[in-house]
Amino acid sequence: MAGVDLSSAEEGLKAWLAQRFHGTMHYMQRHGLRRARPAELLPGTLSVINARMDYLPRHAADDWQAVEWQRLKDPQQATVSVYARGRDYHKVLRARLQALADRLAAEVGPHGARVFTDSGPVLEVELAVRSGLGWRGKHTLALQREGGSMFFLGEIYVDLALPPTPPTETHCGRCTACIDVCPTQAIVAPYRLDARRCISYLTIEHEGAIPEALRPLLGNRIYGCDDCQLACPWNKYAQRSTLPDFDARAPLDGATLLQLWAWDEAEFLRRTEGSAIRRIGHARWQRNLAVALGNALRVAPDAEIESALCQRLPAADELLAEHIAWALRQLSSAPTAPPATAAG
Ligand code: SF4
Ligand code: SF4
Repeated sequence: MAGVDLSSAEEGLKAWLAQRFHGTMHYMQRHGLRRARPAELLPGTLSVINARMDYLPRHAADDWQAVEWQRLKDPQQATVSVYARGRDYHKVLRARLQALADRLAAEVGPHGARVFTDSGPVLEVELAVRSGLGWRGKHTLALQREGGSMFFLGEIYVDLALPPTPPTETHCGRCTACIDVCPTQAIVAPYRLDARRCISYLTIEHEGAIPEALRPLLGNRIYGCDDCQLACPWNKYAQRSTLPDFDARAPLDGATLLQLWAWDEAEFLRRTEGSAIRRIGHARWQRNLAVALGNALRVAPDAEIESALCQRLPAADELLAEHIAWALRQLSSAPTAPPATAAG
């Protein structure tokens, strides 16, 4: 439980917005300080109940981090962020939070309550940290000793004065693994993220062209990025979900870029039904894939990839055509095969 006076977080939020670190997430600017003022968002709110839900799939291997690092090394594989491989977490978490809110109402009588999960102008990590659900890591996510950071957050705003639960100590110490590993140096200082450089933002939230200078750094990441969490030593304690909802759906756990590139819009919509991925739409999905295919071509020329990109070009809209053209240009940076010698 956390109280609603987040005024000490307002300066940081203002500075973050002033530096335009939110990129094209204009709603963040629009919501301004309302995110730090729960009682303005929902008048009468006195407390916030904070909850976490682990999302590591039930059958994740013991060495799941090593498996993920390996996937990132294969340029023709498609990497989708672990949290997005199963059912849309908004639906799962929201239903559970609502059930919790209903049970609370049954216990204490009718009261004002509203549930959020990444679904409104809510300072989620700040509230979670204040309520003792974890501490803020240098990558800006909440994490805890018993569960790492592979969990979703959700909140119930209530007009009940509940006793706040105490915050926990922080345990990042001198570690900087998340900062050092970030492919785009998006963590510009401990606890400070420039979303404009973050691959999660670029592949999910960002509309329009992906900045050219950052494209090579995306590698084969086509939806989100887990690197800062994979590198975090506390994630060896990440808990597996008890729910089947977050089990990876085929083919999102093991598809090649070319398999996903072959999806037309109807197939994209069918395959991503009930998944958070559907929210980005087919156009952004293809844009991301074009970048990843270009990155694969730069590592090694591949006639199949080249032909698949060329085939899509005539019908592509301006944005996609530009990304395809960029991808094809990566061939000029690809290593050339050494000339065959007489000895073979
Ligand atoms: S999600 Fe990826 S790009 Fe974003 S901060 Fe973490 S490591 Fe960097
Ligand atoms: S990688 Fe290190 S610095 Fe980053 S969140 Fe984890 S413990 Fe903290």
